[in-house]
Amino acid sequence: MRLQNEELEQRVANRTSELTQVNAELQAVQQELEAHARELEQKVNRRTAELQATISSLEQFCYTIAHDLRAPLRTMHGFSSALLDDFAPALNDVARGYARRITDAATRMDEQIRALLAYGRLNSSEMPLVSTDPGALLEQLVKSEEFKNARINVRTPLPRVIANPIALRQVIENLLANAVKFVAKGIVSQVCVSAKAQGDTVRLLIEDNGIGIDPKYHERIFHVFERVAGSAYPGTGIGLAIVQKGIERMGGRVGLESESGQGSRFWIELRKAEEVTDNPGSKP
Ligand code: ADP
Repeated sequence: MRLQNEELEQRVANRTSELTQVNAELQAVQQELEAHARELEQKVNRRTAELQATISSLEQFCYTIAHDLRAPLRTMHGFSSALLDDFAPALNDVARGYARRITDAATRMDEQIRALLAYGRLNSSEMPLVSTDPGALLEQLVKSEEFKNARINVRTPLPRVIANPIALRQVIENLLANAVKFVAKGIVSQVCVSAKAQGDTVRLLIEDNGIGIDPKYHERIFHVFERVAGSAYPGTGIGLAIVQKGIERMGGRVGLESESGQGSRFWIELRKAEEVTDNPGSKP
């Protein structure tokens, strides 16, 4: 019996020492794994920083090229306009038509470059987010030269949102410009802007009675230079790319509901901001 007990104790002691050894090995493997994970994370961070640096230098490069392209364009525009202004009697109809086409093309290209530069600035500039009143932005926009003759109904009050006021103005301006522009011939455009608060977000809706958009294009139209309405409507094809980039940088979302021929309802969603009272100290 005593022998049996000793044997048992010995076996327990052996198992314990085996377990301790396995435990030590496990700890060593775990430490090794943690070291690998740390190394991997450092590698990923390094690569991400390198990629970000490459992207910023490419963006800077594109920005500089776009900026520099404007100078020769201005020269083309200037000389073709001078030709039309100062030498019109000496030119026949065909020559005048050519000069006009050069002027128009230079103007269009300049608009496109300016829109691209605006898009680039949205990408690279600092974007502090603050409590912003979309109602005040809309009031300014609706009174501006661009929209003063448009029928835009703003359903106030609109809740305050967390946004960058400059970027939000750019976003709303582009959506309003499209809502007013893409309307069938002979129809007076009617635009309605409203807001819906949903939990801690606010959805701003911009609805129009325009030509609408086939759902198969809903994703594509947010890409740079994608246009589906045809040349009857002027434009650069960059407006919605600006909208998407601006909203993305403000941590929001953008989308639309639309069918061909049925008008469009674009929406942007941003975080709701605390309402500010006009005079917080005063009591009635
Ligand atoms: P642009 O307005 O300069 O053409 P955008 O990037 O703003 O470029 O819009 C891309 C395309 O999406 C437009 O060319 C048009 O086909 C379509 N689109 C945008 N907004 C509307 C709208 N409110 N109604 C109908 N089509 C629209």
